[in-house]
Order: sequence, then structure tokens, then C-alpha cells
Amino acid sequence: MAMLKCPVCGAKFRGTTECSRCGADLSPLMRLATRAWLVRQQAIDALLLGNPQLAEQLAAEAMSNRSSPENLALEVLAGAYSSLSAQGSI
Ligand SMILES: [Zn+2]
Repeated sequence: MAMLKCPVCGAKFRGTTECSRCGADLSPLMRLATRAWLVRQQAIDALLLGNPQLAEQLAAEAMSNRSSPENLALEVLAGAYSSLSAQGSI
């Protein structure tokens, strides 16, 4: 969660439920980031188990929970794999 920032003041996230600069409650942000991480792991598992359609759905959910380069890369990869699979190319 190192790339997270306080949505109120933009201070760097330091792993606490309260912003060290402005005191904002960061627990909803932490829950969302944790949910995105869990869904991303499920998407990776789905890819490894050969279910690209499920991986694509989960990757999109992870991206909607938290926009990050890692989630975007997974969404693109899962989408490409899913398309190729649907075409019978792989
Ligand atoms: Zn703050």
C-alpha cells in the first residue's frame, strides 16, 4: 500500500488508520485497497488455473477498487488472454 495517499491532504500513506498530517480517517481507504489486493490475487489464481474469463472479471473489479499500474497490467493481460481463448487461438 506504499503508493496510497491521503485523499484529503495528499500525505503519503504510512500504514495507519489516521492520516499523520490531517487526521483524516483512512480506514475506508485501507479496506478498499485490501479488497483490491485480494481480488487481484484471485484474478492471478484464475489465470494460473486457465480461467481467463473469470480472471478478466476479477481484474476489472480490482481496477475499479483501486487504479494502479499492477491492476491495469493484470486487467490488460487477462483481457488479452480471454480474447485469445474465446477465439480458440490458445
Ligand atoms: Zn491527510
